[in-house]
Amino acid sequence: MILDLLFPNRCLHCHRIIEGSELVCGLCFDQIYFTHHRFDEENVLKQRCQLLFPVEYAAALMQFEAENLSRKIVHQLKYGSRERIGKKLAEWTADRITMPAEPPDLMVTVPLHPRKLKERGYNQLHLFAETLASQYGIPHDAAVVKRNFYKKAQAKKKKAQRSTTSNLFSLAENLQNTHVLLIDDVYTTGNTMSSVAWEILKNPGNKVSVLVIAVDV
Ligand SMILES: [Zn+2]
Repeated sequence: MILDLLFPNRCLHCHRIIEGSELVCGLCFDQIYFTHHRFDEENVLKQRCQLLFPVEYAAALMQFEAENLSRKIVHQLKYGSRERIGKKLAEWTADRITMPAEPPDLMVTVPLHPRKLKERGYNQLHLFAETLASQYGIPHDAAVVKRNFYKKAQAKKKKAQRSTTSNLFSLAENLQNTHVLLIDDVYTTGNTMSSVAWEILKNPGNKVSVLVIAVDV
């Protein structure tokens, strides 16, 4: 295509011209800090999740370190306009992280705050999850968990009163006896992930596993 000649695809790190479907060149690819986590093994992410909520399996594709390439890649996923980045990251994930013998039943992405969704116009995790769903053969449902949006009237209620009546997230359907694979871009404090996990774990028979693109260390 003419556009490819005019605007060739470039490595997002060193800007060398690369094939259209790639994100980085071979040299930069070798610098990415993949975690080598496995779902069926103990790892640092699973240990960190366990401090906050019961978790079956946990794995991260990459590790964040100050100024490293994985940080740049996730930044591109969040704020760049490269649509295919989510797809590529899903391929990298499926190549490296195998599902356990008893895989989760359903993949659910942590919903964006409505304000952020409005700013960006899309959830950057959607294409990642959709691609992963087909790679793993596990359905992805973007509508299971929704982020509650407080109106002004509610916000004016006394804080204590509000916290007993409302949560940050809620389940859009009555999910039971389901092993949910929670998906997010970066695991830092785990607070958001924990809120979603506990919402799912409220219902009988549910289990939670975690998959993130990067874990902050
Ligand atoms: Zn490069």
